[in-house]
Amino acid sequence: MDGKRDYYEVLGLSKGASEAEIKKAYRRLARSHHPDANPDDPGAEDRFKELTEAHEVLSNPESRRAYDTYGHRVPRGAGSPGAGGDPFGGFQDIFEAFFGDRFGGGASPFGSFFGDAGTSGRAPSRGDDAEVEVEVSLREAASGVEREVKVQTVKECAVCEGLGGTETRRCETCGGVGAVRTVRESLLGQIVSTQACPTCLGSGHEILVACENCRGSGRVAEVETREVRIPAGIESGMSIRHTGGGHAGERGARAGDLYVKVNVTEDPELMRDGDDLIHRMRVSFVEAALGTETEVPTLTGTRELRVEPGTQPGATLTLRGEGMPRLRRRGRGDLKVLVDVMVPTRLNGEQRELLRRFEEVSGEETYNGGEASSFFDRLRSVFR
Ligand SMILES: [Zn+2]
Ligand SMILES: [Zn+2]
Repeated sequence: MDGKRDYYEVLGLSKGASEAEIKKAYRRLARSHHPDANPDDPGAEDRFKELTEAHEVLSNPESRRAYDTYGHRVPRGAGSPGAGGDPFGGFQDIFEAFFGDRFGGGASPFGSFFGDAGTSGRAPSRGDDAEVEVEVSLREAASGVEREVKVQTVKECAVCEGLGGTETRRCETCGGVGAVRTVRESLLGQIVSTQACPTCLGSGHEILVACENCRGSGRVAEVETREVRIPAGIESGMSIRHTGGGHAGERGARAGDLYVKVNVTEDPELMRDGDDLIHRMRVSFVEAALGTETEVPTLTGTRELRVEPGTQPGATLTLRGEGMPRLRRRGRGDLKVLVDVMVPTRLNGEQRELLRRFEEVSGEETYNGGEASSFFDRLRSVFR
């Protein structure tokens, strides 16, 4: 993409713009260029994307430094939290559609955290993501289920409102911005970079009297119980994203997201194969030969299944629509019943006699009448 506009130009800023200016410009432009605000303008979405990308890169000190040095040639994702690959293989977007309106943004019960998990000394950044695992049975995965999960997240201290002190004053080093600019000479010319203010560590204020509740950190860890809806058809290993449900961001920055990783436990009777289920059904060799009526377990109970006379080992009987519901799509998979024919391993004298008698009155046609293949014929001749 060679025709890319300069990120500063996109935001209407000069190269030396402060973090606060970048943030402000982005907010202002994002409001006016948001596709929702321009329903009749087909170009609005692209402009909004361009804007968001510019903000993503320039709001992160590392990616901004890289961009300042190399321009658009810098590999995306390097040092930029927003521009990197998706560690959840794209599922987060699937699930945002599911839960986005429920947990999304500031309207959510968990979406209004401030402060931060606070490990880095960088300028205000989005809160860290939190992850919690939840286990559901196969049947619960099939029907969908509500689960309560306990999540420990870092939240803004309510006493000092995240400032860390009950008495504070504006940082003199950075003038309350939280970041300072440094200019460095290099072979490629001047490199202007923004770093967290060394005096206030990016908070923008100096603490005069530390808050006792949070011991000056501005943040407290809290365990919350949340209701999580597991959608029908979910597969083991998938994650559900709750936007804004993670750790609080620094100084009012957006909270991280909460990922609920779902583990679907194995069922002793039904094995999952995508949307299909497989049940291994054991019938005796006599039942396979004579045919029988039997019951097979399903997700909701049991179902009658007719085994036709002469059913071969390894035959698959399909119960249409008795599989898993398709995630976010209509319909269900099938239940495939795999026929396992039991051959006796311990015979008494009478049984042995009966089988010998049976063999005497049997011939090729006993087996060929069904679906016996030439392969089985050949196999039998080998053992005779
Ligand atoms: Zn506090
Ligand atoms: Zn400062």
